[in-house]
Amino acid sequence: MDVLGFGRLIDPESQAAMRAGADWHKTFQQELMRDYAMCSVEVTLRDTDWGVSGRMDAVVETPTGPAVIEYKTVSGDRFQLIQQGGPLVSHWSQLQLYLAVGSIPKGALVVDARPSHQRLIFHAEADPMWAQWLRVRIERVKAYQAVRKLPEREVSQGCLSCDRWQRCFSSEDERDRQVHQHPVWAPEPSVPDLVGYTVSHQVVS
Ligand code: SF4
Repeated sequence: MDVLGFGRLIDPESQAAMRAGADWHKTFQQELMRDYAMCSVEVTLRDTDWGVSGRMDAVVETPTGPAVIEYKTVSGDRFQLIQQGGPLVSHWSQLQLYLAVGSIPKGALVVDARPSHQRLIFHAEADPMWAQWLRVRIERVKAYQAVRKLPEREVSQGCLSCDRWQRCFSSEDERDRQVHQHPVWAPEPSVPDLVGYTVSHQVVS
């Protein structure tokens, strides 16, 4: 929807959460700059072969080479889900995309809970299975972009918190009915396993 220019319909609650998230981002980047002698924040990434562009939250230099740091803040409920089940696909795919496109071998996904300041850090290496999955999904986006069409909906529980649901369903009732019938996201091809990461838990003062 982004590449075809369909805007997001952001409610006031989501806007407030985004503003809070932006403040936390700045604080986190300052933390990194204090802790690492070599740290670049808001690093632009653009690749014509992949056909993507974006901005990495940070790239830090470690004794074993550069590492991408992707930072997210989530509500307490989501944090618990992540604690129990591992990173969200949307977060993980973003980190893996940066690793693949930037040819950077390792990175970390840092997830902070608002407002408790609990933190999970998922350390990862570039995963070729994820690179392949992302490549297929991006090629699909490009194919639909070329003919200016949206692909089929991929209905799941995620539609309930999607800020574009009004583009996909004619009413809340229709959305809820469809989600009830297809609660689990089943993209094509299916999502690779989230494996090979180590995780640490902190409370940030
Ligand atoms: S409402 Fe559902 S199908 Fe439509 S864009 Fe959002 S997540 Fe995808």
